[in-house]
Amino acid sequence: MRSAITGGAGFIGSHLAEHLLSLGDEVVVLDDFSTGSRGNLAHLEGDRRLRVIHGSVLDRGLVERIVGATDRVYHLAAAVGVKLIVEHPLRSLRTNIHGTENVIHAVFESGSSLLLASTSEIYGKNTSDALSEDADRVLGSPLRSRWTYAAAKGIDESIAHGYVVEHGTRIAIVRLFNTVGPRQTGRYGMVVPNLVHQALRGEPLTVFGDGRQTRCFSYVGDVVPAMVRLAESPAAVGRAVNLGGAAEVSILDLATRIVELLESPSEIRLVPYEIAYAPGYEDMRRRVPDNSLARELVGFEPSTTLDEIILRVAASALRHGTADQTMALAVPGPDLLEPVSSAAIGAA
Ligand code: UDP
Repeated sequence: MRSAITGGAGFIGSHLAEHLLSLGDEVVVLDDFSTGSRGNLAHLEGDRRLRVIHGSVLDRGLVERIVGATDRVYHLAAAVGVKLIVEHPLRSLRTNIHGTENVIHAVFESGSSLLLASTSEIYGKNTSDALSEDADRVLGSPLRSRWTYAAAKGIDESIAHGYVVEHGTRIAIVRLFNTVGPRQTGRYGMVVPNLVHQALRGEPLTVFGDGRQTRCFSYVGDVVPAMVRLAESPAAVGRAVNLGGAAEVSILDLATRIVELLESPSEIRLVPYEIAYAPGYEDMRRRVPDNSLARELVGFEPSTTLDEIILRVAASALRHGTADQTMALAVPGPDLLEPVSSAAIGAA
């Protein structure tokens, strides 16, 4: 099998490249190295079945040449990370809409098949205790940059759906929920690497808002094999499938657990959203997946616990270094903020 991964030098893409090589595929990675890095693929260097091409999904000719020579495409290239989206809304929109359209059109022309990476972000502020794939989307104003990512990914899914309906193109969509693991950087806002790196450096852990917002973190090593099985599954064509973690945790409890597990001397500090990102920033209070469809289609059972995830992220951080891996706040200076009291942590 010849597979192409757009965004293959990113966090999830590099784990996918590794997995596909282990299954015997030849793999072509297309990446512009904006947020991905060659370092993410360094351990695969020397494998002659891997080819890495430096380029953009916005380069239609290049996308067509790569897709034309492969059987299956995994489209992961995107502007990701709340911090990046809020600071560069236009660049994010262009990459996430035009880049995806280029990839989908090339797949249609070449007759290959596509797994399109989408996101739980498209559900927006829907706080249901189990978001199924047909759940309503609750988005804020399109003038708030955070929602441009959800808007763009929603359009991507609709374009994919249009190609399936009108042309019979073989496309499956996965909606990823807070996927975490080794090699993920905290620079663009992702909370687990950010807090783990802070804890390892003995710096205050920055918990945004009141810390009672919740997420379900899933381990990249559980998610990536399920992505490949969905890409292979004829029953997944034309569908969007959630892939998320099993356990819901508040960000304050996450921070507390990181400090405990890593035996860190760090304090935990609450940082208002306007200091973390920008004035008027809106967060999701809750985001919980219903994984039934993935379980039914490919037997998806996320089994890695939050403790194991934290320890693996920390081990990887210690191997690769913790410098320059945390998010810069919009207004610097969490040291000006009050540490969270142990009573507040207990109440979270
Ligand atoms: N968050 C936090 N501290 C950080 C980075 C993020 O408290 O240093 C919060 C963020 O506001 C959100 C949650 O952690 O409520 C998850 O953030 P992330 O960016 O990882 O994912 P998403 O918001 O896309 O779910």
